[in-house]
Amino acid sequence: MADVPADYGKGSGMDTAIVLFTRDLRVHDNPALAAACQLARRVVPLFVRDRAVRAGDPRQAFLAGALADLRGSLRERGGDLVVREGDPVAETLRLAREVGAEGVAVARDVSRFAQRRYDRLAEACGAHRIALKGFDSVTVVAPFALRPAGGDHYKVFSPYWRRWRELPHRAVLPAPSKVELPAGVAVGRLPGGADRAPVPGGERAARERMRRWDGSDYVEGHDDLAGDRTSRLSPYLHFGCLSPVELIGKAGVPEEFVRQVCWRDFYAQVCAAFPQIVDTPYRPGAHDEWRGSDADFDRWAAGETGVPLVDAGMRQLAAQGWMHNRARLVTASYLTKDLGVDWRRGAAHFMAALVDGDVANNYGNWQWVAGTGNDTRPYRKFNPHRQAERYDPSGGYRQRWLDRV
Ligand SMILES: Cc1cc2nc3c(=O)[nH]c(=O)nc-3n(C[C@H](O)[C@H](O)[C@H](O)COP(=O)(O)OP(=O)(O)OC[C@H]3O[C@@H](n4cnc5c(N)ncnc54)[C@H](O)[C@@H]3O)c2cc1C
Repeated sequence: MADVPADYGKGSGMDTAIVLFTRDLRVHDNPALAAACQLARRVVPLFVRDRAVRAGDPRQAFLAGALADLRGSLRERGGDLVVREGDPVAETLRLAREVGAEGVAVARDVSRFAQRRYDRLAEACGAHRIALKGFDSVTVVAPFALRPAGGDHYKVFSPYWRRWRELPHRAVLPAPSKVELPAGVAVGRLPGGADRAPVPGGERAARERMRRWDGSDYVEGHDDLAGDRTSRLSPYLHFGCLSPVELIGKAGVPEEFVRQVCWRDFYAQVCAAFPQIVDTPYRPGAHDEWRGSDADFDRWAAGETGVPLVDAGMRQLAAQGWMHNRARLVTASYLTKDLGVDWRRGAAHFMAALVDGDVANNYGNWQWVAGTGNDTRPYRKFNPHRQAERYDPSGGYRQRWLDRV
């Protein structure tokens, strides 16, 4: 069962606990949910729709599906998902008073917004004598669990990866068999629009995709643009419909894939330590002056630069709310290093359009490409023509997306 910290519920059990879901929208291997179910007689799963979170349309639609799926799974276990709208801290406290909750369990997260939310929640819970426990379940390895000598986080991926891969993983937790909701709680309405998502949101779809994806040709296929042979699990990982610990523990998953999931942990610990990553160069003294024009940016965003691989990538993004990693590298490099447009504009465009848009991964990767971030070779540039010859030799990827105009 869950590795329940001694200070949570003071070890003696509680009558009622709230599980505040944020982007851990699953019942399997969910440490916050498992701990609450283990300790409390009654559990109130809560999701607060916060208008301050401005996710793009694909993510809003995916989220709607994921919440509906989560409510279904909780109902199958005798519980429900309570949905409220407003400030998550105020709504959690309001609900805690309503149901007499003694504890709140929540997944900790790394963005500036999430860190502030957690701090505010901790303060409010403290003031009302409610036990709050944050669980580091968004990543495989908690941010700050690995520290280099003389620093609080790793700035370079390779040494991080070397230490990360040696760590034992925590045990995967089963889904709770029963969730008992207190009587009389108004459960609230789910957001609509799930049918507009580019891929179905939710844990069921995530598990089905994980089950079908065996990764057997990932090593040679992950850069094959036309073959589209990556897992496409990124939106499910972003919304926590799938546990990264469970995913990499799956039998037969190649090390190259595990390494990619480690990049996700890497950027999470960078963002946890440097939440200004969204607007401030990570590397001190990095070149951060940009000459590109609005017209350059607009042509890039519309997939009309005249450079086939760049335009194909941008059109895939517009059509699917997703883009192959190789194309993300090439389009981001072209915007920043060929057109000289500020990486913040490109990153914001991606965030609005991606179904897997993720603060740590998106801004971390954009800064890496722009040369202001964690790349140890900040002046490298991806030549889009050579990249096309190498990763789209048949032209199949370019043809697929450029023919769509
Ligand atoms: C400019 C740019 C912006 C990006 N923005 C995002 C973003 O907003 N959200 C996002 O999840 N990924 C982002 N990535 C990383 C990567 O492109 C996607 O994670 C990947 O394409 C998702 O497809 P997949 O699930 O099929 O990947 P797979 O190749 O199947 O990889 C499995 C998982 O590993 C993780 N992963 C893979 N590559 C990376 C990477 N470079 N950095 C961090 N994690 C990685 C993802 O969670 C991914 O789902 C970005 C990359 C670049 C270059």
